[in-house]
Amino acid sequence: MAGKRFPWVLTQSVPWAEGAQYTRGTHDGLPLLSYGCAPRDKLATFRQLRAMGLRPNGQDPVAVLYVRHNASKKTVFASLYLIAKAAPVRPMTPAKWTALAKANLARRICRICGKDPLYPLPTSTRLCWPCFEAEGGLEDLEAA
Ligand SMILES: [Zn+2]
Repeated sequence: MAGKRFPWVLTQSVPWAEGAQYTRGTHDGLPLLSYGCAPRDKLATFRQLRAMGLRPNGQDPVAVLYVRHNASKKTVFASLYLIAKAAPVRPMTPAKWTALAKANLARRICRICGKDPLYPLPTSTRLCWPCFEAEGGLEDLEAA
């Protein structure tokens, strides 16, 4: 493959710095950056924000970072957010813990017997194993 896939482009204005900056063009309408050229003190991915105890706070990504994975020959894109606009992660409140526990419990209640078999049920059937077998089980799936 001749030439670079993402050549350097001098971009006139970017949200994270004053004046023109070199980028790798655009991706989905956002400035594209390569590994090592995004300022670590100004831009961060969602997971990097989380590691700092921050959340994007409703802001849209201001840039896209791409990374080449050599083993799989794939290019991975990651949204970058402005650290300056990020807000601290909201702490878990008792109500949030309750809602989470309810949601996780709902994943374990069998639709037929209403019991909790102590494992999350398949989303396709939401049946515990005894009920799934009583309903015809794998024979139905194999016939289909
Ligand atoms: Zn059941």
